[in-house]
Amino acid sequence: MREKYRKADLGITGANFLVADTGSLVLCTNEGNGRFCSTAPRVHIAFAGIEKLVPTHEHLTVLLKLLARTSTAQPLTCYTNIVTGPRRSDEHDGSEQLHIILLDNGRTNILADETFREALRCIRCGACLNSCPVYRSVGGHSYGSVYSGPIGSVITPLLRGLENYGDLPNASSLCGACGDACPVKIDLPGLLISLRQNMVDQREFSMLERLTMRLYAWSLKHTWTYRMGQRVQRVMLRMMADRDGYVRSAPTGPLRKWTSVRDLPAPAKQSFSDWWNTQS
Ligand code: SF4
Repeated sequence: MREKYRKADLGITGANFLVADTGSLVLCTNEGNGRFCSTAPRVHIAFAGIEKLVPTHEHLTVLLKLLARTSTAQPLTCYTNIVTGPRRSDEHDGSEQLHIILLDNGRTNILADETFREALRCIRCGACLNSCPVYRSVGGHSYGSVYSGPIGSVITPLLRGLENYGDLPNASSLCGACGDACPVKIDLPGLLISLRQNMVDQREFSMLERLTMRLYAWSLKHTWTYRMGQRVQRVMLRMMADRDGYVRSAPTGPLRKWTSVRDLPAPAKQSFSDWWNTQS
């Protein structure tokens, strides 16, 4: 790759931070690709969201430590580059031209929202991803955006519309592990709940979903119906299961979509609560 970097006319990078008092851009990588990209080609273009701006180098030192410790447990990322302007006459490397492009793309709207503005504090350390049981099972590509995991489930709907990414805030068990892991104390579970509330207020749920939830709420108030529903469901799923105890293909409804891409384990013959009742 070195030769390719050396011959390239243009290098494009992002930025982990931008420092306002000196106009510096900061690149943190463990592979050195950012350093190649920003120093070997003649022109360096850096794209960065406006939330990457920090006021001074004093603020930067705190954030650099937080980033490395919570993402990979290092004292500092291996290649931490601070680029302040293009190459000067007495310097050996660096680009001849440096262009920093600040992206808004909906970020000022998030900033104006008192509930969600804290999401812009994110330093992209990835700690919430690593702690999230959903992310660890489904992986990054399932989120349909470059931002994955719990923070992706918050900012992707904010940047691209709740009507397009309404599934993301709902694909969470709200266990709270992400909020505990976050070094900048973003209340991720709270923001996921607020997004769900917005979906209810904007009536983003389909008629069928609303009806199902009402029925569910009603049955929770009338527990005999809930228990009976559970029994019927258990018997039906067990009838559909094969000899290995898996439902491979459900005949109809949402379960059909589910089983078209994965197998559903059939419920146990006796539910936990039935077993518990026999013990007391
Ligand atoms: S939300 Fe917090 S834990 Fe998740 S990537 Fe951002 S800073 Fe890290």
